[in-house]
Amino acid sequence: MIVTGSGTSVNMEGSDEQSREAVIREVGDILRASLERMADEIRDMASAERYVQGMLRRVGSVMVNRLAAWGAQAAERPDCTRCGRPMEVRNRQARRYVGLVGDVEIQRTEYGCRTCGEGAVPKDHILDLGPGCLSPELTRVVTGACAEIPSFERAAAMIRETLGVCLTAHTAARATEAIGTVVEQEMQEAMAEGIPPTPEAEQGPLVLMVGMDATKAHAGGQWRDVKVALVAPLGPEVVTNPETGRETLLLGPQTYGAGIEDADRFYDRVMVRAQRAGWHPTRLRKAPG
Ligand SMILES: [Zn+2]
Repeated sequence: MIVTGSGTSVNMEGSDEQSREAVIREVGDILRASLERMADEIRDMASAERYVQGMLRRVGSVMVNRLAAWGAQAAERPDCTRCGRPMEVRNRQARRYVGLVGDVEIQRTEYGCRTCGEGAVPKDHILDLGPGCLSPELTRVVTGACAEIPSFERAAAMIRETLGVCLTAHTAARATEAIGTVVEQEMQEAMAEGIPPTPEAEQGPLVLMVGMDATKAHAGGQWRDVKVALVAPLGPEVVTNPETGRETLLLGPQTYGAGIEDADRFYDRVMVRAQRAGWHPTRLRKAPG
C-alpha cells in the first residue's frame, strides 16, 4: 500500500509476479544498452557521473510509471460530488509529467456529470497530481529552490545541474505560482534587480488605497473572472471640490494589475504591489470600531 500526499491510500494489487518481472526486464534492457554505449560517451569522472545520472532517470521513469499505474488501478467511475448522480466518461488522454527521478506518462480518464456539469479525474486525486506538468515531488523541489534563489532562470539552472531535469525558467515560475509562493519570489526578484521603491515607500504613505474588483473576459473557450486591482497612495496633499468645498486626499501614482488566478492568490499579488508602494504588515492599523 502507498499513502499519497493527498492522504488517500492506494493498493498495489496490480503488482503481480508477472508485471514485476516485466519491470526487471525493462530496467535490465536500459542497463545493458547504457553499458554498451558507455565507451563512446565517457571520457572522465564528470562525464561518467552525467552519463549514469541520465541512465538512472530512464530507470526511474520505468519504475515510477509502473508504480503509478499499479497504484491508480482502483480509480473507478465516481459519483458526482455535487449532485450525487453517476458520472460519465468525458475524455481519456495520457498526460506527461516531468518527475523527480524520471518522466512519467499517466493515462487519465476525465469524468463529467450530465446533470450539473461537474467534472472529476479520480486518478489525479489518488496520485496527488496537480494541474502543471511537474510531478508532486519535483514541484516541491522546484518551488523550494525558487523560494531560495532570487531568479527563476538560476533556480532552473540549479535544478538542471543537480537533478539532470531540463526545466525552463517559465516552467519553474508556473510551478511556483501554482502553489502561491510567487509572492516571495517576486519580492526577492525585485530586490535583486534593485527596483527602487516608489518615493512614498521610504516612509510609507499615510494612506494607501487598495481597490479590487472583477470583470468577465472570454479566455480559453470560456468566460472567466478577471480580477483587477488598483494600488495608489492617498494624500497627504488634498484637493478641494469647488462646488461643495469638501476636501479629499489626492490620489498619487497608481499601479494597476489584473489576473485570472483565484481570489486568494490574486490578493497575495496585490499585497506585493502594496508592499512595493510602501505598505508594510507592521504598519497595519485596524479601523476603529
Ligand atoms: Zn452532478
